[in-house]
Amino acid sequence: MHRRISGQLVIATHNPGKLAEMRELLAPYGIAAVSAGELGLGEPDETGDSFRANARIKAEAAAQAAQLPAFADDSGLAVDALDGAPGILSARWAGEGKDFNAAMARIERLLQERGATTPDRRGAHFVSALCVAWPDGHVEEVEARADGTLVWPPRGSAGFGYDPIFLPEGHDRTFGEMTSLEKHGLPPLGLGLSHRARAFVELAEICLGR
Ligand code: IMP
Repeated sequence: MHRRISGQLVIATHNPGKLAEMRELLAPYGIAAVSAGELGLGEPDETGDSFRANARIKAEAAAQAAQLPAFADDSGLAVDALDGAPGILSARWAGEGKDFNAAMARIERLLQERGATTPDRRGAHFVSALCVAWPDGHVEEVEARADGTLVWPPRGSAGFGYDPIFLPEGHDRTFGEMTSLEKHGLPPLGLGLSHRARAFVELAEICLGR
């Protein structure tokens, strides 16, 4: 049985950008969200070997610490020709300085080394895993992806991370060239394009009653 989210929810992130986005997504459902940062909760180590496992580690740690239901996500970019790298290491490839230009250049260098120069050899997908954990141990988990190809050089300065090299399937502009509403927005306003938007729609169906 799926469990509905009601009342107060902890958002298990210390990233202000993600917090703002999750609050926006939850607001229409009347869910009051407080962040792990605001509650002074620590950040657990992401020791899982999958997006799903890492989302669950973060949600369960926050649910136990706050004794409230907690919502967490984990996401990243998987490149087909690189056997799924950087995957769960997507944030780490940018290093301490969060240098995503360097991380994108590293991906391009590896693709060139493998002769992946035509679009058919440059497939990639973003993944978003979402988890809601309750203090009694119940969890709800969803995962979704957005498929596309990688372009070079990077295009556009909107968004974050690997957005400027990701061309979503069926579109001629990269995520870096799209507004946030186009990329993440849910229909009818947005296109529901991004991995995060798709995962959220699934979660809403099972936990938020829409
Ligand atoms: P997380 O904070 O552990 O989920 O790490 C996610 C990392 O994956 C981010 O730092 C980005 O590098 C990358 N990533 C995830 N989602 C996106 C996206 O929508 N656009 C661009 N990069 C993304």
